[in-house]
Amino acid sequence: MQPLSILITNDDGYGTEGLKALEESLAPMGAVWVIAPDREQSGQGHALTLNHPLRFQRRAPRHFVVQGTPTDCVYLGIHTILKEEGRPRLVVSGINRGYNLGDDITYSGTVSAAFEATLMSLPSRPRLLGGLRDRGLGRAGLRPEIRPVRSDLAARSRSRREALQPLRQPPRGVRMTRQGRRIYPGGVIERIDPKGRAYYWIGGQSADWEDDPESDFRALADGFVSVTPLHLDLTHYKVMDLVRRWNLDL
Ligand code: MN
Repeated sequence: MQPLSILITNDDGYGTEGLKALEESLAPMGAVWVIAPDREQSGQGHALTLNHPLRFQRRAPRHFVVQGTPTDCVYLGIHTILKEEGRPRLVVSGINRGYNLGDDITYSGTVSAAFEATLMSLPSRPRLLGGLRDRGLGRAGLRPEIRPVRSDLAARSRSRREALQPLRQPPRGVRMTRQGRRIYPGGVIERIDPKGRAYYWIGGQSADWEDDPESDFRALADGFVSVTPLHLDLTHYKVMDLVRRWNLDL
């Protein structure tokens, strides 16, 4: 029987601890193909490179780096790098360094890589682990947290056009959650460089979140694994009747 072919990627870049931990965790399930950006691509969302050439390099057996975004990795991976192999049975993205909660999902290259796979009707999951760097967790510390999700990957790999987002703390259990809402302090940090010119940082300020007991934020704060089912359809169904009443016409 053909081994299960699994494509993994991330937005933190090739060689990061989270990606290595994910590869090790999934290796017993099948042939893991690592196709990841050659540098950090966090915050790139669902960006696809359209205006300059894309290149990839083979770094090791079944290991490739792409000079592009996480979405490029999935796209090029499936259409070009794995062309001979055939489509992977599963695409897993992560494990992200840092949080990807609530509204931040829309910025996340990690989540978008999984979405790209769902666009191709491949089962996919973004894998996110909050505070990896801050908590100084090595791979050994990560693996036990991955294991429970790994065991249900196979069972759920039949799901199509859905992306499941597990998030890990030292877990007290697993909660299914909904996407929470950030309260951004807004603003941009301005600094002056040694040549007297202004430069700017977006982010870097802590953001609070709306306290919703069913949110991913709350689950994490309570020490639970958060699993949020996501889908790509952005249609706002609740307002469709209202918009119909506008009787839009030309
Ligand atoms: Mn990231």
